[in-house]
Amino acid sequence: MTANSIAPSPASVGGLHENHAAFLQRFTAREAQNRAAKQTPTLSVEQHAAYRAQLSNVRFIKPKYSEETEINVSGILNKWRRYCTDIKVGDWEVSIKNLKRETTQDFFLYVCERYKIKSWGSGEEYIRQFQQLYTTVNGRYMDRNDAKEVNKYYKCVLVPRFGHRPPNIDGKPVLNVDNLRVILTFNIAYDTSIFPGERHRIQLASCYQILCYTGARPAELVDGERKKPKDGSIEKLFGRKVVQSSSSDDDEDPAPPLDKDFKLLQSHLSRETVGRGRPKALCYEDIQMMIVRHPVTGRCIPAMAIKFIHYKGADNKPKPTIFYFTPTRKLLFCAVSTILALALHDNAFDAPSLTNASIIFRSKPPRFKQCIPLRWKASKLKIPVFRRYRGASLSEAEVMLYSKLRDDIGQQSLDSGHEKKWTPRFARRGAANAANGDAPDFIANFDLQNAFLEEEKESQLFRLFAHVSLTRDPRATSDMVPEEVWANLPPDPEIVELKKQRTQLKQGKYRIEGHKEEEKIRKLTNEIRTKRAQRERQVVKEYREHYFYNRPTWDIERQIRGEEEEEYAEPVIDVTIPERARLAEIVCHQPDDLTENEIFQRRIEAINLMVALCDKRETVKRDRIQRRAKVCLPVKSEPPEAETEPMPSPDRFPLLMQAAQCPDCIGDERLSREERAFTYCRPTVMKDHFDDHHLVGRERAEQCGEKIRCEHPKCRDVKFQHLDHFRSHVQRIHGVTLRSSEQVKQRRLRKAKRRRMVKAK
Ligand SMILES: [Zn+2]
Ligand SMILES: [Zn+2]
Repeated sequence: MTANSIAPSPASVGGLHENHAAFLQRFTAREAQNRAAKQTPTLSVEQHAAYRAQLSNVRFIKPKYSEETEINVSGILNKWRRYCTDIKVGDWEVSIKNLKRETTQDFFLYVCERYKIKSWGSGEEYIRQFQQLYTTVNGRYMDRNDAKEVNKYYKCVLVPRFGHRPPNIDGKPVLNVDNLRVILTFNIAYDTSIFPGERHRIQLASCYQILCYTGARPAELVDGERKKPKDGSIEKLFGRKVVQSSSSDDDEDPAPPLDKDFKLLQSHLSRETVGRGRPKALCYEDIQMMIVRHPVTGRCIPAMAIKFIHYKGADNKPKPTIFYFTPTRKLLFCAVSTILALALHDNAFDAPSLTNASIIFRSKPPRFKQCIPLRWKASKLKIPVFRRYRGASLSEAEVMLYSKLRDDIGQQSLDSGHEKKWTPRFARRGAANAANGDAPDFIANFDLQNAFLEEEKESQLFRLFAHVSLTRDPRATSDMVPEEVWANLPPDPEIVELKKQRTQLKQGKYRIEGHKEEEKIRKLTNEIRTKRAQRERQVVKEYREHYFYNRPTWDIERQIRGEEEEEYAEPVIDVTIPERARLAEIVCHQPDDLTENEIFQRRIEAINLMVALCDKRETVKRDRIQRRAKVCLPVKSEPPEAETEPMPSPDRFPLLMQAAQCPDCIGDERLSREERAFTYCRPTVMKDHFDDHHLVGRERAEQCGEKIRCEHPKCRDVKFQHLDHFRSHVQRIHGVTLRSSEQVKQRRLRKAKRRRMVKAK
C-alpha cells in the first residue's frame, strides 16, 4: 500500500472477515440492549398526581455527600452514641433531635477527653462532621449562632485546655528528583525486604514514578477507599434521600398503603445500590499506550497518556486531567517502561503478537499517521494495574492496598537513610512545586533574605534546602541500634515482674501443655512478648532519632580533632535473583554517554527483565540459605571455580527427597533453585510450614472437586482426587511424611485453644 492510497481496503488485510463478524455481533447485541432500555415505563397521569401528593410530604432532601463524608459522619455518630450512653444523656436520636447548644459543647469536651486529637485541624473537622450528622438526622441545618458558639468554645476553651497544636506545624517535606532517584535505586538494587512476589517491587517503582510526576493522590493509584462500617449506620443515616415532614413517628415510614404507585415513589427516594463496576484506582482503561513518531528525528517510540479523574468541590464535580509520558533517557526514571513491563506481564495487549518489549519497540504507525494506539484486551480494561497479593499469589482483579504502599514507602525511605519516614503524600507536594515553580514557605523566606542582601540566588543551594535529602545520611537504616546498646540495655522492670510471676506459676515444670495454670501462663507469655516487642520498637525509633540529632556533632568533633573522615562507599549490589541483579546493573549504573541506540537496546532489555522479575519470588528461606552459606564458606571455598559454575547435573530435584524438604516449594518455579530445594532443620518445622502455607489451598481444591497435583518437577502429571492419596504418594515416592488429616485437626484444635486462652479476659 502506498502513502497515497489511504482509503481502507478490507480485502488486503488478513483475517478481516473475522473482524467483520465480530463487529456485526457486537452491533446487534448493543442494539438489543438499547431497545430494552427504551422500554422503561413512564408515569401515567394518575401516577404523577400521586407522586406530587407524596412529594408534598417531603420536607428536606439530604445533601449529597461523598462516600468519604458518609463514613466520617457515621464515625461521629458512633462517638455521639457512646457519649449519650456513657454520660447518661439519653437516647441518641431523641437527644440530637432536641439538641441544645450546651450539649454540643459538652459532647466536644467528651470527644477531646476520649479520643486522640493532636491538631485543631482535626478538632474542627469533627465539629463539621457533627453538623453534617445533625443535618442528616433532622432535615435542617444547625442554628448558625449555635454553630459559631460551638466553634468559639472549641478554639478558646478546648484547644488551650488540651494543647491541640496548629495543623502542619512540622513543615511540609517535599520530594525532588534526587529523592526519587535514591528510592528507586534502593528499591531495585539494595532493598532486602521480602515481598509476596517480585511484581510488587515493579509496582512500587511505578507508583513512585507516577506519584512524583503527576502529584496524583495515592488513592488514584491504589485502593484508598475506607472500609464502610458494618454496623448499619450508613444505611440508617443515608438509606433514604429525604426527611419527611411527618417524621415525628419513631418509625422511618409513616406506613401508608403499600400500593404499586407508592412503591414507585419510594424507589425514587431510596438510594441506588448499583456498584461502580470498577475500582477507583488506576485501571488499564485509564492508560492509553501508543507508538508515536518523533516529529523531528522520525524515530518511533512508545508514549503513554494517563487520565485521572479528580473529584473536586462540594458537588464532587469530576475533573479529568490527562498526563503524557515519553521514555526518559535515564532508564531508572522511565514510567513508560515500567507500565509496559506490568502490562506485558499481565498479557494485557489486545494484539496477540505484542508479547515482549522488542516487538513493541519495533511497532510503527502507518507512514501517513503520527501515532498508533496499542489497545488493551476488553477483559483487562477494568483491571487495576497495581494489584494486591493473597498469600503468595497475585490477585486477578483486586487493587493493591494503600496501607501496603504506605508501609513500604515508609520502610524504604528509612532504610535508604532518610531522617523521616516518607508518606505517599510527600510526592504530591514535590510534583505541585515542580509544576508551579514555587516552594514551601520557609524556602521563600530563605530566598527573601538573599534578595534583601542583594546576593545572588544560589539555585543549587536553593534546591538542596527545599527537600528531604538535606538531612539524608546514607549510613543510616531503619533499624540501626548497635549490638552494644542491645547488650547493655537494662531490663524493663515491668517485664521482669511478669517473668517472675510466670516462673512462680510454672513451679519448676517445663511443660506448659496441660499444666494446671496453663491459661494464666500462656496469657503472661503473650503479655511479655507484646511488651518486649513494643519496647524494642521504641528503642529502634529513639536510637535513630538520637543518631540523627547527634551524629553531626560527633562528626564535627572528629574533624576538629583532625581525625580522618570515615570512608563511605556506595555498597555493592548484592541481590539473589539474577534478573534483579542484571536490572539493577542496567538502570542504577547507567553511564551518561550512551548513544541513542545503546539506550534503546538497554531499555528493551530492562523491560524484559522486569517482566521476568514479576514472576519471581523470595521467602524467608533466602536469608537462612545465606546464613548457612556464610557458615560453610571457609570449608567450601577450596575449589573457587567449581563454586561459581551452575550445577551441571539437571538432577537438582531427585525423586527421593529429604524428609525435611517441602514437597510443594520444590515445584515453585518462582523461587530460586536453592529455595526450592531448601531443607528445614527438622521435619516438624517443614510440616508446620506446609500446613501453614500450602494445606489450606489444597483443601479448598479438594472441596471444589479439583484434582490435586503433585508439584514435584518430575511428576507434574500425577493427579489425585483426595488429599490422603496425595499424602501417601508424597511419602511413597518422595520419602516425605506429611501430617495426616487427623494430626492436622488436632494441631488446629490445639492452636485454637491456645488462642482462646490468650484472648480470654
Ligand atoms: Zn513449601
Ligand atoms: Zn510426586
